[in-house]
Amino acid sequence: MNLATWVERHGRHLRDRPALAEGDRVHATWAELAARVAGAAAGLRDQLGLAPGDRVAIVMRNRPEYLEVLYAVWHAGLVAVPVNARLHRDEVAYILGDSGTRVVVTDDEHATDVDALVATVASVEASVHAPGPGWDRLTGTPPTGLVDRAPDDAAWLFYTSGTTGRPKGATLTHRNLLMASLSYFADIDPVSAHDSVLHAAPLSHGSGLYGLPHVARGAVSVFPASGALDGAELLALLERWPGLSFFAAPIMVRRLAADPALQGADLSGLKTIIYGGAPMYLADLEAALDTFGPRLAQIYGQGETPMTITGLSKADHADRDHPRWRERVQGVGFPRTDVEVRVVDEDDREVPAGEVGEVVVRGDVVMAGYWQQPEATAQTLRGGWLHTGDLGSVDDDGFLTLRDRSKDLIISGGMNIYPREVEEVLLRHPGVQAVAVVGREDPEWGEAVVAFVVPAGDPPSVEDLDTTCTDHIARFKRPKDYRFVDALPTNNYGKVLKRELRERLAQETGAR
Ligand code: AMP
Repeated sequence: MNLATWVERHGRHLRDRPALAEGDRVHATWAELAARVAGAAAGLRDQLGLAPGDRVAIVMRNRPEYLEVLYAVWHAGLVAVPVNARLHRDEVAYILGDSGTRVVVTDDEHATDVDALVATVASVEASVHAPGPGWDRLTGTPPTGLVDRAPDDAAWLFYTSGTTGRPKGATLTHRNLLMASLSYFADIDPVSAHDSVLHAAPLSHGSGLYGLPHVARGAVSVFPASGALDGAELLALLERWPGLSFFAAPIMVRRLAADPALQGADLSGLKTIIYGGAPMYLADLEAALDTFGPRLAQIYGQGETPMTITGLSKADHADRDHPRWRERVQGVGFPRTDVEVRVVDEDDREVPAGEVGEVVVRGDVVMAGYWQQPEATAQTLRGGWLHTGDLGSVDDDGFLTLRDRSKDLIISGGMNIYPREVEEVLLRHPGVQAVAVVGREDPEWGEAVVAFVVPAGDPPSVEDLDTTCTDHIARFKRPKDYRFVDALPTNNYGKVLKRELRERLAQETGAR
């Protein structure tokens, strides 16, 4: 089934009900959205010459047009490549080239960078600005019928950085995304056309994925007018769009929970806050439960198995009298309905309850593979199981707790940062002989990026190192702290002992 079926269907059935909203204003009803999607799909085919299976990248901040583009791409049988709009131009260029993107849809904010890439990335033929006359021309094309898609056809290339430092496109099929949506209804919440979903986090990531079950059921997708949600805006939106749910990284939940405007406020319009993507400290979770009541659900997933490995339901959060409540809410919950989850040793043998091993997942939501990366795909999906790179253990009741990440990933402010990427950039600086990048616990950001630098001669200035980073990678990836050292700790094989560096930082934090 083609996921764009939902929009086409609601265009007839829910006709005048709101489909997209910006703040309190309706941007499009379902009939309008369905017409724009079918028109744009025809335009992508007839005016831009795209054929089913071709890739269309979306480089836009969250805005209602984002969903017009996404569903038009699917309606035409094309493959969407939603790109994190905060990436550096060179990083965007890499993703466009790797995915073989032919057309990029972008907004005014990103147009300068993206338009420059049309000339430099060989596969890219055109860019279209949405909103704008170019997008209006496409949506105004006489509509075309929905293009058939088989369950295993690619729908979304979800770019995720790997340990190799280069991002890889997890190929998510129509079946994968349908499964992820259905399991939302099974494990998180039922959804109706009277509900709403707020896009407070990037649509290229969690918020886009959680939007799917809401579109499936005809709920309205709401975009905060400010672009940066605070308590007062949330209250106004709850009044206008009751039955509201949204996805947020733990850092955002923490900020909102402490917002004075929300203390003692009427939150009856708030249905669910789905948080995940990074660990949440117990104290923060307790504060969030105090502010929001039993409206929190946690999910643990990754791009390779979109939003779906385990979950901790609203009921689990509310069950405070349970003897193991504290342990449970510090973990990531119970396997989702549509997947098998195991914890295995290095030989892929399941380990007993309580023992730490790698989390592996199998089911219809697991990606088809990495886009044109057969070796990485074979390695990650070996034996038919997705190897997540996360280390965890299950308890006797089957609840999973994550212990560490075997992939060295740093999650800062809800954004994933792979140390290798930052290290490679810093090594371009002539004043850097060696470098190791690790995460340090940070009360504000979850984790902060710290670089241990062995200088080649006189230590370079921090400003210089910062510039080297921002010249090549997104600003949010640059280290918050540089430590100049004579040497990096290594083992017998010369491998840098990052654990030791992390421990050093943890001791300092502890001492403070
Ligand atoms: P991404 O593919 O960008 O969504 O990143 C996925 C990674 O984020 C996972 O492999 C985990 O390491 C981490 N992660 C996701 N959800 C959670 C969670 N609820 N708690 C702790 N870590 C998480």
